[in-house]
Amino acid sequence: MGSIMDLGIRGKRALVCAASKGLGRGCALALAREGVQVTIVARGAEALAATLAEIRKVGADGTAVAADITTPAGRAAALAACPQPDILVNNAGGPPPGDFRDWSRDDWLAALDANMLTPIELIKATVDGMIERKFGRIINITSGAVKAPIDVLGLSNGARSGLTGFVAGLARKTVRHNVTINNLLPGLFDTDRIRNVVGAQAKTKNIAYEAALAERLATIPAGRIGDPAEFGAACAWLCSTQAGYITGQNWLLDGGAYPGTF
Ligand code: NAD
Repeated sequence: MGSIMDLGIRGKRALVCAASKGLGRGCALALAREGVQVTIVARGAEALAATLAEIRKVGADGTAVAADITTPAGRAAALAACPQPDILVNNAGGPPPGDFRDWSRDDWLAALDANMLTPIELIKATVDGMIERKFGRIINITSGAVKAPIDVLGLSNGARSGLTGFVAGLARKTVRHNVTINNLLPGLFDTDRIRNVVGAQAKTKNIAYEAALAERLATIPAGRIGDPAEFGAACAWLCSTQAGYITGQNWLLDGGAYPGTF
């Protein structure tokens, strides 16, 4: 995907979390195409190196940090590599599915750590620098489950709603300084995670992968799965200079799956 319009962010620095694969990778590549210097974080060094090579292929500056962003040490390593980001994309793996009767306090704390407190810690570490420099764009990758809960993903529904509620308040405090905070809510995107989920559903139902995917697609008006590059393009635009009047919003990218008028 080429550049559609000049987003005005060439030379800015971005910290993109959980970015070696999937949606985070889509965001990192879209920002790189706009000339942003991108620091990507993920746990596995191999996939990170492959994504870093692609970032450099589009001619952008890139750095990779192999770290678990949900730990204090991981966040410290990420921030050491990119101490003053102008753009922060918060992302981490999603919590496992299950029944809430089986979840212990530790299961809840892990979900809260990954999908609520890690983004808040990273915002805390970077937002004041953005305010001083009078430019900042913070994007949290959450989930369509924030708007329409998915029953088996109670840990995700809960933890991500906590983040959404918190940033709704903060986003109104920072926008005066040209620092915006918005959330992107994916529906069904073609990533490793979704391929695993659909694969598991196929196995449970004893049907082929294609049949399980077709069942999912039947609920999506677009009639297809989303491309992480489309997700990245939306992220890059929300990070543009043009998007400075948009804050505290929850953008659903779901091919029309959510049935409400708003
Ligand atoms: P993915 O599994 O394809 O990619 C996840 C990326 O995050 C990988 O690069 C992985 O290395 C990295 N990562 C995971 N945990 C990490 C950690 N603790 N520290 C550092 N890096 C870490 O997943 P995805 O589909 O791109 O999903 C990204 C997020 O979006 C997840 O939280 C997921 O639950 C959520 N989500 C995705 C979809 C979808 O359709 N793909 C839908 C709703 C919500």
